[in-house]
Amino acid sequence: MTTPVLPSPCSKRLGLLDSSALAQAVDARVAEAWQLCREVHPDLPRPGVWLDLRGAGAGQANMKRGGLRFNRLLLEDNRLAFFEEVIPHEMAHWLVFHLENGPRLKPHGHEWKTVMRELFGLVPRVTHRFDTQRVRLTPFRYRCGCREHALTRRRHTFVLQGGCYRCRFCAETLVYHAEDGSEGRI
Ligand SMILES: [Zn+2]
Ligand SMILES: [Zn+2]
Repeated sequence: MTTPVLPSPCSKRLGLLDSSALAQAVDARVAEAWQLCREVHPDLPRPGVWLDLRGAGAGQANMKRGGLRFNRLLLEDNRLAFFEEVIPHEMAHWLVFHLENGPRLKPHGHEWKTVMRELFGLVPRVTHRFDTQRVRLTPFRYRCGCREHALTRRRHTFVLQGGCYRCRFCAETLVYHAEDGSEGRI
């Protein structure tokens, strides 16, 4: 049996947050998880936090960027699970990355599992069971001059047949960039 070490967030309160308050709450939860990690690794740098991960992945620890990325759509629909599991999961990656031989360790290997169990008091799971329908409905990523857009298959087909969409913010034509994967990894 494991008992979560971080305090349990109130599901009802989380459900009421608008998107900017939710983003702030994610920052605060990351800080909480980071403080816990600093008990075993006092020099651990504080990670940046971004809600720009796309596709079916819930989160990602990204060394190059220097922080943690989370999937905003999945976060909005699965708030409690993000606070209880996904944020500690990515913070555990962040901690393991910063161990002496961290970059050479397996992402979900022994060290990561130990951090999840012993430090966070969580079961070390590698996949999530979130409903990714909203993500799957718009898997086609397009770019303009100012941001990324997610299009449905119907709209993507329209573009392939010579159609064209413009960004309503910068008015540039949307250019196809990539299709999101459908794996539900954390
Ligand atoms: Zn634009
Ligand atoms: Zn992971």
